[in-house]
Amino acid sequence: MAPRKLAAGNWKMNGTLASLAQIDQLLADAVPGCDVLICPPATLIHAVAAKGIATGGQDCHANASGAHTGDIAAAQLKDAGASHVILGHSERRTDHAETDAQIAAKSVAAHEAGLIAVICVGETETQRDSGATLDVISAQLAGSVPDCATAANTVIAYEPVWAIGTGRTPTDAQIAEVHALMRERLSERFADGADFSLLYGGSVKPGNAAEIFAIAHVNGALVGGASLKAADFAPIVAAL
Ligand code: PGA
Repeated sequence: MAPRKLAAGNWKMNGTLASLAQIDQLLADAVPGCDVLICPPATLIHAVAAKGIATGGQDCHANASGAHTGDIAAAQLKDAGASHVILGHSERRTDHAETDAQIAAKSVAAHEAGLIAVICVGETETQRDSGATLDVISAQLAGSVPDCATAANTVIAYEPVWAIGTGRTPTDAQIAEVHALMRERLSERFADGADFSLLYGGSVKPGNAAEIFAIAHVNGALVGGASLKAADFAPIVAAL
């Protein structure tokens, strides 16, 4: 099985019911046969899923239920119509001090609920400047990806923290280096490591998507800002 191609939109804390019009337009414009995923805020998961497009959460709790005010269980995402959940996004790692171990535990919960975990890794600018990128990515993969991961239940997204929402992207060679490393680490650890979908994320736009998708071991993208409008996201999907 070759890795599946996937264009995933991360709406972050953006969007209201009025944003559903973007889904209608995307469904009209996007290329049939490509895997397209929208991860809206939790308030919109049910409505987006009802449109018939793959839908994901942006986080879940590691526990199946209980006294965790404000949190959402993986099974609740599934119940609302989600098929995926983003875990370990750098904004969660920073804003909520999420650790690799917590992300691994959330991933296990996601798998137990039947969700595909989209696990994010990525170095800060300081880490890149100090030459630590490959060590950081290796450590995050080792710590955040649980032993129960398979190519069918897990997608990995490489998102350099300094490229998120900044308009800056790594060079093709830098993306290629990290994606090759991720493929190697996953293949060492998992029998089907060659089949995991590996996404790149960080300032993906219609103008750079095709070039990024041509890089070895890049199987798609996790897109933030450019996923909010169908007019921007549809050409990215078309470039897959
Ligand atoms: P961006 O965000 O495309 O706006 O840079 C990507 C992400 O954080 O997933």
